[in-house]
Amino acid sequence: MILVTGGAGYIGSHVVKQLLDQNIEVVVLDNLSTGHRQAVDDRVVFWEGDVKDEQTLEQLFKTYSIEGVIHFASSCLVGESVLQPLKYYENNVSATTILLKVMLRQQIKKLIFSSTCATYGIPDTDILHEGSPTNPVNPYGRSKLMVEQILSDCSKAYDLSFISLRYFNAAGAHSSGMIGECHEHETHLIPNVLLHLLGKQDKVSIFGTDYDTPDGTCIRDYIHVNDLADAHIRALQRLLGGEKMTAVYNLGTGSGFSVKEIIEMCEQITGKKANVVYAARRPGDPGRLVASYEKVNREMGWKPQYTLEDIIRTAWKWHLHHPYGYLKEE
Ligand code: UDP
Repeated sequence: MILVTGGAGYIGSHVVKQLLDQNIEVVVLDNLSTGHRQAVDDRVVFWEGDVKDEQTLEQLFKTYSIEGVIHFASSCLVGESVLQPLKYYENNVSATTILLKVMLRQQIKKLIFSSTCATYGIPDTDILHEGSPTNPVNPYGRSKLMVEQILSDCSKAYDLSFISLRYFNAAGAHSSGMIGECHEHETHLIPNVLLHLLGKQDKVSIFGTDYDTPDGTCIRDYIHVNDLADAHIRALQRLLGGEKMTAVYNLGTGSGFSVKEIIEMCEQITGKKANVVYAARRPGDPGRLVASYEKVNREMGWKPQYTLEDIIRTAWKWHLHHPYGYLKEE
């Protein structure tokens, strides 16, 4: 059985679906602070609880025979992390040290960790490799980098095997349209644009038009959530294969799109016109983040299958069918 922390969240719920498709048994631990019970497949054992709660973890590990852990549960908004850094160090760093302590006590030594391209900071190259300098510019990125360092120390001291996956910009939804991205206060670009085009918000703001990019708006590497999920399955197979791993991989597509290009593509796919307003830069935002996925391709045979168009089409399907997300209609 595999423990998935944060399995009721956006990426976690998509990964859980793929694990179940592979007939892997799953227990999800989620405190539902940002995740949704409805996002968790019925075939899963669900525990509502916090990773910071050592007793809950102890009990969970004693109840089930856990072979490995996929650790999604964390706080993950760049802007919020600037305003509330302690929340990030507590939920991302302290919580992970507690999880590791309990795992290692139970002799569970296989972990997949949700990391981020925010570990790189403001890059001085167009394409980021895993060996590119890591100088995060916000507490979110710093908290994830700290955990990667902790994992590396634990691999040496306690023989922990881990794979850290540095996600670029996760987007899109399951092709069924039944699960997708749903945050109470949405901050991400693609859902914000689509919710606006659906009539749920009166405008879409572009945060910063004076970046050093061709159209002045930020460039990101948008990756379909199902492609992310596929990488987790591959990583898990490697860990369960018994090989000692201490690997970090980028998960991106190698292509970057600006905020303006994303809005245009959303307009094209939905056939609707956006009311765009120009706003100030958002603190903590680097101008350009684009991945090289060469390493994960070489070592795990992974490559992205979905295009930007697929991302926006599947996200649009999700929002059209669930205009209030998992929340009750007002
Ligand atoms: N962004 C924007 N308007 C929005 C939301 C985001 O201009 O309503 C910009 C944001 O400043 C960043 C990019 O879109 O440059 C992607 O932001 P998002 O929050 O989706 O992901 P992040 O890169 O912060 O993880």
